[in-house]
Amino acid sequence: MGWEPIRKRHTGAVRPNLADYPRSRAEFSWDSARRQLAGLPGGGLNIAHEAVDRHAAGPLRDKVALRCRDRGGHATELTYDDLRRATNRFANVLRSLGIGKGDRVATLLGRVPELYVTAIGTVKNTSVYAPLFSAFGPEPVRERLRLGDVRVLVTTPQLYRKRVEQLRESLPALEHVLVIGDPPPGTRSFAAEMALASDEFTIPPTSPDDMALLHFTSGTTGKPKGAVHVHGAVLAHHVTAAYALDLHTDDVYWCTADPGWVTGTSYGIIAPLTHGVTMIVDASDFDAHGWYEVLQDEHVTVWYTAPTALRMLMRSGAELAKRYDLSALRFVASVGEPLNPEVVVWGQEALGLPVHDNWWQTETGAIMISNYAAEDIRPGSMGLPMPGVEAGIVMGDGERVVEVTDPEAVGELALRPGWPSMFRGYLHDDARYAKSFLNGWYLTGDLARRDPDGYYWFIGRADDVIKSAGHLVGPFEVESALMEHPAVAESGVIGKPDPVVGEVVKAFVTLRPGHEPTDELRTELIAFGRRRLGAVAPKEIAFDQHLPHTRSGKVMRRLLKARELGLPEGDTSTLEVGR
Ligand code: ATP
Ligand code: MG
Repeated sequence: MGWEPIRKRHTGAVRPNLADYPRSRAEFSWDSARRQLAGLPGGGLNIAHEAVDRHAAGPLRDKVALRCRDRGGHATELTYDDLRRATNRFANVLRSLGIGKGDRVATLLGRVPELYVTAIGTVKNTSVYAPLFSAFGPEPVRERLRLGDVRVLVTTPQLYRKRVEQLRESLPALEHVLVIGDPPPGTRSFAAEMALASDEFTIPPTSPDDMALLHFTSGTTGKPKGAVHVHGAVLAHHVTAAYALDLHTDDVYWCTADPGWVTGTSYGIIAPLTHGVTMIVDASDFDAHGWYEVLQDEHVTVWYTAPTALRMLMRSGAELAKRYDLSALRFVASVGEPLNPEVVVWGQEALGLPVHDNWWQTETGAIMISNYAAEDIRPGSMGLPMPGVEAGIVMGDGERVVEVTDPEAVGELALRPGWPSMFRGYLHDDARYAKSFLNGWYLTGDLARRDPDGYYWFIGRADDVIKSAGHLVGPFEVESALMEHPAVAESGVIGKPDPVVGEVVKAFVTLRPGHEPTDELRTELIAFGRRRLGAVAPKEIAFDQHLPHTRSGKVMRRLLKARELGLPEGDTSTLEVGR
C-alpha cells in the first residue's frame, strides 16, 4: 500500500547476531546450533540449567538476572546465583511435597519475583510449569487447573480467596496451594516452605523430550487449548532470541508480555536468561508515561512488546516519547497481532527505531517468522522465516494440502515439523493435535501470502477472513488502511452476513483523543476507506472506544461479530476487562 521499505544501515555499535540472513539460513542446522547450549553435566538437557545454573557457575554468577519493579517503582534484584539458589529451594519444596517428574505446577500471579522462581524451580525438578493469567476469574481458573491436572498452585492470598477457594472441592487433583503472604486455611506459605528448604539441588536426569511447559492458547478463536512443550524447546528459545530479538549478553531487556501467555515464558523468562542478560520486570499495568519511564530509567536496550501497546503509545503522541531519554534503546520488536505499517513507521519517528514484527503462536513455542536487525523491513510484513524453519503457503480441501509457490497467492501459512520448540500435543486432545498436521505440514490456521522476495504478509486468521462479493478480505489490511486516517487509533474489522454479497465488511473504530464520533466522520472514514481499498473497503463503520481484547492484547474479532449478530459470545475467559 505504498509503504517504503525501511533500509538498514549498520551504524549501531552492536553487530547484529544475524548479519547475513541468506548465508546463515543456508548454513544453519539445529544439530550444530545445539553446541550453543551447555547440556546437563551428566548428559541430557534441562531448561533451568541453560537459563540459570550454567551462568551461576561462570563469570555471570553475580550479574543481575532479574530486576523486578513493583507497582511503586521499588526494585528487587536477583543475581544469577540468587536465582540458582532460590530455584533450588523451590525444587526442594516440590520434592518435599511429593511432586515429581511430569507433575503440573501452575502460577496465578502478576509479575513478581516468585513467579520466576516457581517457573524455573518447577522445570528444574522436571515437573511441568503452567502459567495462568492473574486476571482470570474463577471459571477460567477451574477449567485450566482441571484440564492441566494441576497438583500445585502458587498464588497470592487475595487471588486465592477471590478465585480459587470456592473451587477447591471441585479440583481433587489440586493438592497444594502455596501463597505469597499470610496463608488462608487450606494453603501454605511460600516463604515458610522456601525457608525450610535447602538451597542445594541436583537436577535429575532430563531428556530433551521430557515435558516442561503447558501453555494455554489465547482463546482468540474459541476455547483455549493446552499446548505441551518439552525441555528441548530451549534451543529454539535461545537461537530465535539471538536472531529475532538480537539479544547479546550485555543487553538490558524488557519483555512486556503478560506472564500468563506463551511469550511471557519463552521470551519473558527462558530465552533472555539463556543469553545471560539483565531482565527488567515491571509489575504495573500499561500507562504511556510509566512505560517510557521504564525504558528511560532502566536504560533498556532491547524491548519486546505488542501491537496494542504500541498503538496505545501512538495514541498518546510522538511528542510524549520525545520527552524521555530513550538513547539506550537499540532494538524494538513486536508480536501477537498484525503490526500495522503505520506503527512500524511511527517507531522510526517517535523512538528513532523501526519496530520489528515477528510471528509465532503458542503451538510453535518460539518465533518462526521475523524481521531482523540487519535486514530491510517492509512495513506491514511479518518478515522472513527463521534460519532452521521452513515455512510455506498451502492450499487444500481439508483432505490434503499442496504448497502454492506462485508469489502473492493467499493460502494457509504452514511449517515443516522438526523445529525443537514445536508443541508435542494438545493436552487430552490427541485428535485435534493430529488434525493440525497434513501432508508433512503443520497447519497454523492463519492465512498469509509470500512476496517474490520471500517476505510473509499476514492476511488474517482462517476463521476471520471475510468473503465479500467474490473478494477475500483480510481484516488486517482494512484495519491498517483505516489507521492511516488521523482520527483512528485502532480498529477491528468483521464480515457481516449479507444475502447479496455474502458478507459486508464492517469496521469498529476507536478514535484518537480530540476526535468526536460524528456522522460526518463516519462518512469521511467510509470515503477514506474506499479510496485506499476500493472494493474491499468497509461499508459500515461503528465507533467503539472499548474494542474487546484478549489478555494477550489481541482484538477479539469473533466477539465483535457475535455481538453484532446477537449470537452467544462463546468462551470469553481470556477477555480483558475494563479497557
Ligand atoms: P486461539 O488459538 O486460542 O484462538 P490465539 O491463536 O490468539 O488463540 P496465540 O497462540 O497466543 O493464541 O496467538 C497466536 C496467533 O496470534 C497467531 O496464530 C496469529 O493469528 C496471531 N499473531 C501472532 N503474531 C502475529 C503477527 N506478528 N502478525 C499477525 N498475527 C500474529
Ligand atoms: Mg491459535
